[in-house]
Amino acid sequence: MLIIMNLNTQRNDIDNIKNKIIEYDCTPHEIPGERKLAIGITGPTNLIHEEEIRKMKSVEEVIRVTKKYKLVSREMKEEDSVIKIGDSKIGGNNISIIAGPCSVESKDQIFDIAGRLKEMGINLFRAGAYKPRTSPYSFQGLKEKGLQYLDEVKKEFGMSIVTEVKDTHTIPIISEVADVLQIGARNMQNYSLLEEVGKINKPILLKRGMAATVEDLLMSAEYILAQGNYNVILCERGIRTFETSTRNTLDLNSVPVIKKLSHLPIIVDPSHGTGYWDKVAPMSLAAIACGADGLIVEVHNHPDKALSDGAQSLTLERFKKLYTKIKELTPIIKN
Ligand code: PEP
Ligand code: MN
Repeated sequence: MLIIMNLNTQRNDIDNIKNKIIEYDCTPHEIPGERKLAIGITGPTNLIHEEEIRKMKSVEEVIRVTKKYKLVSREMKEEDSVIKIGDSKIGGNNISIIAGPCSVESKDQIFDIAGRLKEMGINLFRAGAYKPRTSPYSFQGLKEKGLQYLDEVKKEFGMSIVTEVKDTHTIPIISEVADVLQIGARNMQNYSLLEEVGKINKPILLKRGMAATVEDLLMSAEYILAQGNYNVILCERGIRTFETSTRNTLDLNSVPVIKKLSHLPIIVDPSHGTGYWDKVAPMSLAAIACGADGLIVEVHNHPDKALSDGAQSLTLERFKKLYTKIKELTPIIKN
């Protein structure tokens, strides 16, 4: 359920409505927009007497949200959400590029990559310190040491850090360094993890599970918003299909589908989406052409020596070429 009010509504009137909602054992969520103020309501909304709410002071409209997901839906918020990360923004009129290696491997490795990306104008740096690997014998990440190196990158180059959180107990330590916490494909339906990151005050990058539908992804995002964290960025990273010529099938259909259903920004990961570096540039450009709000791309200084995902990592030179094309394409797409 959604209550629409005028932007100039007095604080007192908003609080009266919120208190009334709480009396019904529901949760009110204030959603400020450019033209209207909306209060989204979650919980057992079927018990609410609509007429009673409609008659309250400053209420313009009461709308029943028909979708299973509420807070993430366009019905709840018409305008695109724009997520702020340091001086960068994801969503709205921006095309934002997050780049970096799959994993933090050593201080030298991430300093070299981050320094060269920064020179190109990249401000959002990705690298995993806690890696969710399919095999328990594969490199699992440098963990705390990796976080420490990421913190040093942040201080040295002033870049914002995007890094994965795999479990609830590492949320506090990762939050000390990360500007964006990434929930990986394997954890998209780890509901206790989603609820916990919903309680923190940092942007969350939520990747689509490899066997998840768009609706599943939106329902997972709903878990985070329902806890009060509205700063969620969705990510299409490919799904499992019968096709074996690529690592995953990058479902670019999901971009316009999500744009219609949700106000949250959606970015694309062409690296995991394809699995091969030579497919990354064409699919990056396609992603931007179909309306994605940005990309997350794996870049490595020595892909052949990478401890994870080398085959899909771009060299810095290849990334630079791609980034030049992205900058040329951006004004055509966004105008
Ligand atoms: C990653 O970003 O390195 C990663 C593990 O991605 P995904 O969760 O999409 O597989
Ligand atoms: Mn990876």
